[in-house]
Amino acid sequence: MPDVLVLVDHDGERVHKSTYELLAAARRLGDPAAVVLGGPGTASRLTEALARHGATSVHAAESAEATEFLTTPAVDALELAVREVRPAAVLVSATTDGKEVAGRLAARLDAGLLTDAVDLDPSGTVTQIVFGGSCTVRARVTHGTPVIAVRPGSFEPEECPVAAVRHDLVLPPIDPAASARVTGRRAALAGDRPALTEAAVVVSGGRGVGGADGFKVVERLADALGGAVGASRAAVDAGYYPHQYQVGQTGKSVSPRLYIALGISGAIQHLAGMQTSKTIVAVNKDPEAPVFGLADYGVVGDLFAVAPQLTDEVAARRA
Ligand code: FAD
Repeated sequence: MPDVLVLVDHDGERVHKSTYELLAAARRLGDPAAVVLGGPGTASRLTEALARHGATSVHAAESAEATEFLTTPAVDALELAVREVRPAAVLVSATTDGKEVAGRLAARLDAGLLTDAVDLDPSGTVTQIVFGGSCTVRARVTHGTPVIAVRPGSFEPEECPVAAVRHDLVLPPIDPAASARVTGRRAALAGDRPALTEAAVVVSGGRGVGGADGFKVVERLADALGGAVGASRAAVDAGYYPHQYQVGQTGKSVSPRLYIALGISGAIQHLAGMQTSKTIVAVNKDPEAPVFGLADYGVVGDLFAVAPQLTDEVAARRA
């Protein structure tokens, strides 16, 4: 079986769920081979979890510099691994950073790139979302090693323990003049909430929420369900909620089990970021809102009446 390289998303201690999804996707094409980029000791800390999810090898690209720069070290690590392993494909998460890594890697390798993949079959044919979510196409890379950015939430993680073999990658020195350096990090607002792209439940608010204060209703429902909070661009642009929570074409793509849209009209650019959610619930006081065309369950009503009742009901059932 050929190797399939998977770029590991992690926080230094914990592998993100999106990586387990990539490992499950990789198993359709060959043997999953994880590429771990991080500071010294990172790969050792993560190997057990990766092997439990089917990684037959772990390529460790450890360097103190790895976390100081944005995408360059990841591209370097993957390029090295591709040249050593000659994999059937390279899979990365279709996050903002992941897509940038994928694009740069494909350019370096002079290879084909497919983004926003939501499915792939053993022949290497990829189902991807294109044109901001308005179409789904099946495509295949015919030139070079396929680089595929997979939407988080598209595959179910699988536990299939194997023994992982470790390989070390020696990263080239980074040219600071040609690479974006991280100058500081700020903690996300989320607190104990799951990350937006990883959450099984996402509750999003739109312009209909009416203000930053109104988002407390959205947060309370998200917390009752153990979910993450998202926002439409209109809500973000109006300053109701920070940009890092924007869902949509120019925000994050999410694919949770349950997506609840509160006061969101359902513009195509918003749908582009959440239409692959397994179950979609919309609350909107306008019965003609386009979001009802996509929703599995629609409630025509005032979100300030509906969401608190839902929150109370969920809390009562969980008590
Ligand atoms: P609106 O369209 O104003 O809808 C608000 C809804 O709230 C209405 O349907 C209204 O009936 C309902 N409402 C009001 N009060 C209540 C209440 N009390 N209870 C229940 N319902 C109520 N948008 C994104 O979201 N994400 C993106 O990434 C994105 N990228 C874009 C990229 C480009 C290039 C462009 C041109 C646009 C993009 N947009 C994006 C913007 C998009 O076109 C819409 O303008 C935006 O999604 C609208 O947000 P909204 O649904 O919150 O607001």
